[in-house]
Amino acid sequence: MEADVIVIGAGLAGLQCARRAQRNGHKVIVLEAGSAVGGRVQTDQIDGFLCDRGFQLLNPAYPAVRQWINVPALKLQKFGVGVVVRVGEKTTTLAHPIYHPTHALATLRSELTSISELVNLTRWFVPTLLRPSIAYRSWRDQTLSESLDGAGVAGPLRRDVLDTFLAGVLADSSGETSANYSRVLMRFFALGTPGLPRQGMRALPEQMASSLQNSVLLNCAARELQEIPDGIQVRTDNGIIRARVAVLAVGPQDVPKFTNLSATLTRGLTTWWFRAPDRPRKSPFLMLDASRPGGGPAGPIWHTAVVSDAAPSYAPAGEHLIEATTLLDRPDGLASEADVRRDLERLYQTSTKDWEILRHDVVPHALPLHPPPFQNNSPIWAGERTLVTGDHRSAGSIQGALTSGDCAGQTVTDYLRR
Ligand SMILES: Cc1cc2nc3c(=O)[nH]c(=O)nc-3n(C[C@H](O)[C@H](O)[C@H](O)COP(=O)(O)OP(=O)(O)OC[C@H]3O[C@@H](n4cnc5c(N)ncnc54)[C@H](O)[C@@H]3O)c2cc1C
Repeated sequence: MEADVIVIGAGLAGLQCARRAQRNGHKVIVLEAGSAVGGRVQTDQIDGFLCDRGFQLLNPAYPAVRQWINVPALKLQKFGVGVVVRVGEKTTTLAHPIYHPTHALATLRSELTSISELVNLTRWFVPTLLRPSIAYRSWRDQTLSESLDGAGVAGPLRRDVLDTFLAGVLADSSGETSANYSRVLMRFFALGTPGLPRQGMRALPEQMASSLQNSVLLNCAARELQEIPDGIQVRTDNGIIRARVAVLAVGPQDVPKFTNLSATLTRGLTTWWFRAPDRPRKSPFLMLDASRPGGGPAGPIWHTAVVSDAAPSYAPAGEHLIEATTLLDRPDGLASEADVRRDLERLYQTSTKDWEILRHDVVPHALPLHPPPFQNNSPIWAGERTLVTGDHRSAGSIQGALTSGDCAGQTVTDYLRR
């Protein structure tokens, strides 16, 4: 055998699985179809700008990040803990009172926050904040919409802020996501200040890969996986690799290519990246649009941010980087550039004539959908020697991918020691 463990896919789950198995004393080979490690976490450098492949943030409050990542080495540039909400002509900043005390009074006085709705939201959310384990009681789960309706969270805070924010974070505008899962995500936002590494989000998987003894084999897609009497063999374009056990850490859409497991439902989003000579707004917060009567955005953009305000390393000095995110579960998810520019002009109240597009990333399988009941599953055996891991087995997040990968690394160790 060439290795004890062969890991297919060098996303966060595959990398953490490989690190755990290596730490447990096994020889590990990691195959990656793409030209870089990181899977859904990638960054492109364009004319001195850093554009992640789909806007995302790293939350240092994730327990898996605290435990297994050298966060100081990433030099996180923090976003504001709060949002700017545009409703028609008006913008309001709602911010965490502890992190942003200067916004506390305005947040409490805002028309978007009534006392009764805040009380109902607190009742809905605080039990999970204090005891996250209750979110895993799947028999008490509902869809996010049903759950918020039932809790009496039904005013402007829900309509104009929560629904829009969570739709952008979950890539799901239907409200069909598990309420328990949504509360877990919100808990992390309440506990941490998300940010962007100085070298871009790719610095996270690059740090993880740097601790592997064997370099990840890039541009090396697994074509076929076959269980043989004493192990497993993987056919790649460069030949056959044999190991005692395989971990399939491909994204959710690719699992059925190798196993009899059915595909996990996913949701997609797109991110537009613009460079601008002038800053359209000075703010470290995400801007949400809730200008549609009844809530939600009036155009294709669910959230936008002047990314370089919070993360200056993302743009060359004197220039500005703006992201705008659309959701693929909406008819206008693939809006034209002209429509996106028109929407940005409305949101920032400025012309985008001098803005230049750096990238438009369309990510059809950005996140697994978590309908109720939310189940934080373990990696699953799809054969005698094939273990399946990834965020789709746990939770659609960096935290979910890391914990699922770590658990897979430990599970194959237990298997090999038996
Ligand atoms: C646009 C976007 C925004 C996000 N925002 C956030 C956020 O703000 N916060 C957060 O916590 N999470 C966010 N996420 C989610 C997070 O990035 C993912 O949950 C996580 O990266 C998934 O990691 P993974 O290892 O499970 O899967 P993947 O990253 O999909 O890794 C699978 C890997 O397998 C490889 N592969 C596939 N087929 C083969 C093959 N045949 N042979 C070899 N290799 C193969 C792929 O190339 C890929 O590298 C976001 C994701 C996206 C896309």
